[in-house]
Order: sequence, then C-alpha cells, then structure tokens
Amino acid sequence: MKNLSKFNFKNKKALIRVDFNVPLNDQFEVTDTTRILAAKPTIETILKAGGSAILMSHLGRPKGKDASFSLGHIAAKVSEVLGVPVKFVSDCVGDEVRDAVQNIQVGEVLLLENLRFYPEEKAGDITFAKQLAEWGDIYVNDAFGTAHRAHASTAIIAQFFENNKCFGLLLEKEILNIGKVLTDSKKPVTAILGGAKISSKIGVIENIFDKVDHIIIGGGMSYTFIKAQGGDIGNSLCEDDKMELALEILEKAKEKGVKIHLPLDTVIADAFSNDANTEIVPIDEIPDGWMGLDIGPKTEIAYSFIIMQSKTILWNGPMGVFEMPKFAKGTIELGHAIVDATADGAFSLVGGGDSVAAVKQFGFADRVSYVSTGGGAMLEMLEGKILPGVAAIG
Ligand code: AMP
Repeated sequence: MKNLSKFNFKNKKALIRVDFNVPLNDQFEVTDTTRILAAKPTIETILKAGGSAILMSHLGRPKGKDASFSLGHIAAKVSEVLGVPVKFVSDCVGDEVRDAVQNIQVGEVLLLENLRFYPEEKAGDITFAKQLAEWGDIYVNDAFGTAHRAHASTAIIAQFFENNKCFGLLLEKEILNIGKVLTDSKKPVTAILGGAKISSKIGVIENIFDKVDHIIIGGGMSYTFIKAQGGDIGNSLCEDDKMELALEILEKAKEKGVKIHLPLDTVIADAFSNDANTEIVPIDEIPDGWMGLDIGPKTEIAYSFIIMQSKTILWNGPMGVFEMPKFAKGTIELGHAIVDATADGAFSLVGGGDSVAAVKQFGFADRVSYVSTGGGAMLEMLEGKILPGVAAIG
C-alpha cells in the first residue's frame, strides 16, 4: 500500500486532501471535531518528519462563493485540535495561494478556502486539478468521506503527481479495516443491516452474499420484507416497489446458503412520536393505524445470540428510530451484543452515518473494533466498487 511511510517528507510540501466537512452552528462554531481529529495523525506525522502541510477540503454544499461556507470559520478550531498555528488563505487557487505556499516554512500548516467555491471541484475539472496540484511536492489523500467521488481534489489531481502520491493514515486504516470484513474475515461472518430503506442497501446485500453467513435485518427496511411475504405491517415504512426485490433477495440467500434473519416481533406506535402509545406485537400482525418503530424483545434475544456466535461483524444502520428514546432499545441491545462479541475476540466494523451516531450516542464507539468515518464511501466499498480516490493513488 502506498502510504506515508514510503516517503521522506523532510523539506517537502505535502498537499493533503482532508475531510473537514464539519458541522457548524448558527455562530459558525464547529460542533463536532471528529473529522479534524481523524486527520490529525497524518498531519502530525508529516510535520514531525520535517515537512509542511497544505490542507484542502470542502465544507457543505455552497452554490458559488458563499461566506457562510468559508473554511475560515474553522481555522481556529483546526489550530486548537492540531496544537499548532494554522494560516488560512481565502482562496484555493490563484496568486494569494501561490504567495502563501512559497512562504510556507517547515512545520507550518496552511488551510485553503473551500474547494467547492469552484464548481470545477465537483465536476472533476482537469485544469482546476492541475492548478491545485501546483501547491505540493507530494499529494496525500486522507479524505475517506469523499473517496467515492471523482472530484478534482480527490481523484483527478493524482495524475499530476506520478509517483509522489499516497494515502494518509486515516484512508489507509479505512481500507485495511473494511478489507478485514470483505477479504480476510474469520467465520461466522454476520452483517447487521438496518436503517430506513432497502433501496440504499441493496448493493451491499448483493455484494456480501458470498462473504457472509448471516444477514440480520432491522429498522424500517424490515417491513418491506414482511409485507412481501404477506404479513400485515399497518402504517410501517414500506417501499412497495421493492417488495419483488425483497423476495428475490430471500430466494438468492437460500441458494447461497446465507441465513437472512427478519424480526420476530416489533414495538409499534400509534404515531411517529416519542409520546405515542406503544405495544409489542408479532412482526407480521401490525394493526392498521400503527407503525413498527423498533425491534421487539424476542428479536433482540434472537439477534444477540447470532451476534455472540460471530467472529466478524459488520453493522450498518439502526434497528429502529433510535433518535427517540422510546424506540432506541433494539439498537442499544444490539450494540451491547456487538461490544460483548468484540470483547470475546470478534472483529466488529461499524459504519454509515446513523450507526456511527448511534454508537457514539450510546457510548459504544471505543468498544467496537473499528468505526468507519465515511458513510457513502464505506457502502460503496462494501458494494464491491473501486473508489475513484483509492484507484487514483494506485
Ligand atoms: P439509513 O440512513 O438508511 O441508515 O436510515 C437511518 C434512519 O432510519 C434513522 O434516522 C432511523 O430513525 C430510521 N429508521 C429506523 N427504523 C425505522 C422505522 N422502523 N421506521 C421509520 N424509520 C426508521
């Protein structure tokens, strides 16, 4: 793997694509520093080796140059997290950047303005990529969150660095850990898939058939499977146009010898609200006017049992509407089972925006083997796709 250790950064300017797409409040203050912290090891390693760091990132989805999306808002926080001064330049291409780059000293950090102030970034424009490429001797991609996009700074730029390009520590770690599930996984392998919709997970389900022994299904997408099999799901979430697909998945699983587990019971509510009345019923006996918002206690036990027997566990998507305390129990219980299995020696990978939010909210993040930082990028890797940002480094 082309990683930091293959290069001598002494007196070199490292142009690092980071993912500083952090959440800001109305005062433009950073409310979660996870992504900055995630890039810290790479930046520190390069500075310690006697190099300098030029950081480029996007922030949000600005339409043109919109000051509310300026990376200037986060420069002070980046400096605080890294523990070194950070100079901010209010552009990412042009003369002002050229001056700043020419004057950068060993051990210094420069943060460029939001790449997406230029539509050329997302368009993967080669001229824009070439302009960016001028700023560094070595290109380092450490932005896993955007590695599935063929943007100027994430993929197109790499061709201007021939051999002087590598993965940052975060991207390297992501590739290795997702690889542990996809390639050298210890059996039994269990994938836990939850969240709202089948449509966003179908690619993953199809690609992992040959790699897993069990697929545990929970969350909103389970009801489409149940309705497709003739069950009553009341007003639960359902993708009617995916019912055929759900049956095909069940059939294919049988052919491949993969066990698909669907919930046995569910917590139903008479409104989509934490104040709703609730009951526990069999998964296929949900009365009209009620909706399933969490897995039930029998399902928790059955699912936890499978998880405890597993040696490799992949978790993507919550088991219910965990944002509301009344419907968080299924997600929490499965989190406990994953933590216990991990303590027993299993490898557990958690990824996808909402599962990461859940493990953090419930305090499991430090007790699973790896928490992936990139939702879309992780899903695409699990779908078996080669990410443009990864392919570009080679
Ligand atoms: P996804 O982004 O597809 O992983 O979906 C995550 C979202 O699915 C979370 O916001 C959950 O609240 C939601 N969700 C999980 N279970 C259900 C359910 N039974 N009904 C409606 N929404 C759900």
